[in-house]
Amino acid sequence: MKRKLVAIGMAGLLLTTISCSSQNKKISTNTNQKEATTFTKEANDKLLSYLPFDDDTDFKNAKRGFIATLDEGEIKDEEGNVVYSMKQFDYIKGDAPSTTNPSLWRQSKLNSLNGLFKVTDDIYQVRDFDLSNISFIKGKKGWIVIDPLVSAETAKAALALLNKELGFRPVTAIIFTHSHIDHFGGVRGIIDVADVKSGKVKLYAPKGLFTDAVSENIMAGNTMGRRSTYMYGNLLPKDEKGMIGSGLGQTLSTGKAGIIEPTVTISSLTGESKVIDGLNVEFIYTPGAEAPSEMMFYFSDLKAFCQAEIITHNFHNLYTLRGAKVRDGQKWSSYIDLALVKWGNDMDVSFGSHHWPTWENQSITKFLTKSRDLYRFTHDQTLRLANHGYTPKEISEMLVLPESIDKSFANRGYYGTMSHNIKAEYELYFGWFDGNPVNLHPLPPVAAGKKYIEFMGGANAVLLNAKKSYDQGEYRWVAEVLNHLVFTDPKNQDARNLLADSYEQLAYQAESGAWRNYYLTGSKELRSGVKVLPSTNMAGPDMIRGMSLDLFLNYIAMRFIGTDLEAQQMHYNFNIVLPDVKEKAIIIVENGVVTPRIGSNFSKDVTATITLNRSDLDKTSLGEATFDELIKSGAIKVDGDKKAFNKFLTKIDTFDFWFNIVEP
Ligand SMILES: [Zn+2]
Repeated sequence: MKRKLVAIGMAGLLLTTISCSSQNKKISTNTNQKEATTFTKEANDKLLSYLPFDDDTDFKNAKRGFIATLDEGEIKDEEGNVVYSMKQFDYIKGDAPSTTNPSLWRQSKLNSLNGLFKVTDDIYQVRDFDLSNISFIKGKKGWIVIDPLVSAETAKAALALLNKELGFRPVTAIIFTHSHIDHFGGVRGIIDVADVKSGKVKLYAPKGLFTDAVSENIMAGNTMGRRSTYMYGNLLPKDEKGMIGSGLGQTLSTGKAGIIEPTVTISSLTGESKVIDGLNVEFIYTPGAEAPSEMMFYFSDLKAFCQAEIITHNFHNLYTLRGAKVRDGQKWSSYIDLALVKWGNDMDVSFGSHHWPTWENQSITKFLTKSRDLYRFTHDQTLRLANHGYTPKEISEMLVLPESIDKSFANRGYYGTMSHNIKAEYELYFGWFDGNPVNLHPLPPVAAGKKYIEFMGGANAVLLNAKKSYDQGEYRWVAEVLNHLVFTDPKNQDARNLLADSYEQLAYQAESGAWRNYYLTGSKELRSGVKVLPSTNMAGPDMIRGMSLDLFLNYIAMRFIGTDLEAQQMHYNFNIVLPDVKEKAIIIVENGVVTPRIGSNFSKDVTATITLNRSDLDKTSLGEATFDELIKSGAIKVDGDKKAFNKFLTKIDTFDFWFNIVEP
């Protein structure tokens, strides 16, 4: 008891000392970008001696079969705007600068090797014309195209280079490996919709791709888009203190993205075969791992395996920082094992939707096995420790991969990291709550920040201590403490600057491109505020038109400002009729909630019946027309209580893309 009292006394004394001295002392900060500190250099040097940097197999493989690339080093759209630039990364050469993690630098060197490559006599790839790869398989009559990149412009440029170097062949089939936009977005650059619709060119995809592709970015699209600016670093300069790549690829193109609905779907978890342009292709459906809808496949005539994005030369995301549902490492691992069982002994080459291929059976099976074990280790060991009662923050500090996996470059966390993937696997089973009652109802950031700063002796005392910790290289801790201060007083420029400096050192040490970009963008916005730039529309015309009525009305329901008192008092029953697509629906508005029902109409208690063509509905989503304008022009017909419908429309929310992230 006595000892406890003494301890309290000491703490009181300590507080007094700090507040006395803090009256005289001040720290000096500025908004400049900083060099790497000795702590950052030491951390990066440690990795340099840990990993086998002498092994140049990846460089040999990434350069193997190079045929040609674009002299101009960039791809432009019809108006002359650059939609993808390879040459902006020309500075990534030689040894890693001290402001970059040497392992990520190495990965970016590999990812920025661009051009057309011969994989085998019958397989070609264009790499680094976009974030992802486009692959071309020589069929009996033409090219089978796998994954036509993000934008029509980049896909078109890739196909043109292929035809120029190898002689023109028509596109005979297209395969989308999965539902992420970097694997289908550029499809219109290589094929006419009419050729797909007429059946002349078949379009293969895993079951659910179209729906998943359209829905994944709609309901949570605004925030995912804003967070993507952090994750992909597109607001950052491309230089040694800025963005050096995403780890998975260099960066995303900014051309026209679209989608064409697939005509053949693959849905067998155990395997199914198709003959595509004279070649036998065996597929396995691999949903709920890297993407909600995905497949891997094997060209038995060519002994060639397409890994899709299930296997890459990096530890992928079991959780993606832009925000997404978490992914299941056990499923992920089991899909790789199934591929090993089915084709493992016969593969001569393995290629994927990102990074470079692997040749020779022994190297391929080693590569696949380690990848399989990486995901299973993370899943199983997280769960094992969770069953001992450890919580996510604890487990992510405890778990270290076996050296046999960890030292393989293909397993390094260039995109996903061990740290955040462990948290994802915990979340998969336990959700957001770690079981400690303190986390049931903690104070929100601003309120907590105020109390922390008050308890820690005020802003100046916190800054002085934070600077001491900064000088000792404790950047994670400095960030945690100063985040409280910035949320208490976002105008405190010293706090902003020192927090920015800490994020910057964390970025310089980060092996993950996504982490580096995240920290650096945070740092940038603390130093110079949020710059409002023209924001890209995440949902293009193909996506809007591809939305089912169900998804569309659920999207409207989500945007209803149900917290508004007037909105809560609304009690309406609307009938919706879409003559051009012969669809109808009901919208019930009550209790601050919008409930859509698809397929029927009310016969009584109808507030109003709204008749409009689906094509006009799409115009409102594309920003080509407002509901108001369409009502005035007669394109939308409202029978019944027009005022009620107008009032309902005033309660549909819009979102600001450039919301704050690193400050309140
Ligand atoms: Zn991808």
